[in-house]
Amino acid sequence: MTFDAHTHHLPEKADSAIFSCCMYDSPLPDNVVFLAAGIHPWHLSEEDFPMQMKWIENILADKRIVALGESGLDKLCNTPFELQIKAFHFITTLSEEEKLPVFIHCVKAFNEIIALKKSLKPKQSWIIHGFRGKKELAESLIRNGFILSFGEKYHPEALQSVPKGHYLLETDNSNADISFLYEKAAATRKIPCKILTKEIKETVDKLFFNRIKNSLFGKKS
Ligand SMILES: [Zn+2]
Repeated sequence: MTFDAHTHHLPEKADSAIFSCCMYDSPLPDNVVFLAAGIHPWHLSEEDFPMQMKWIENILADKRIVALGESGLDKLCNTPFELQIKAFHFITTLSEEEKLPVFIHCVKAFNEIIALKKSLKPKQSWIIHGFRGKKELAESLIRNGFILSFGEKYHPEALQSVPKGHYLLETDNSNADISFLYEKAAATRKIPCKILTKEIKETVDKLFFNRIKNSLFGKKS
């Protein structure tokens, strides 16, 4: 199965994608199987922040939730940076409490995100979604324990540099076909698509569908 880790479109095969949503996407579609819920820095203001926190806390009761986010830091959007940090802190704290991984939206704020991860030392996985950075940045993020999710556009050397178990594929907002992204990624990594699909399935299972084992593993470290 070609699992789509992060999409804003209704997936063709409902159980093969994580639908990423925020308060402004509600009411949520019924025919979605897996959800990630977050506070996106693009859609955030001082006024709606309390409401968004409430919405997230309520949606945690939804059994379809397998992750939080996307949330994060974006230096190119108009939302005050301090407020973005507050919202991100809220999400990462919940991620630890609820034992859910987080999808991170990061634009020109990688130093801040890495510094935050170093100081907070989260046990849950932090997944940089839509990663388009260069190989050096990919390597630095991997050294710091991040998972990278690649979409339609990326530097091939970056995807080549990521060890198996540390990457995902996603369509995000694009109309790209997820199967095509799997084939392209397999060609980039110079491995058969079948192997790549198996590698990603193992990563997906570990990150989103094996939470008890994950938390036990986290406790050991
Ligand atoms: Zn997205």
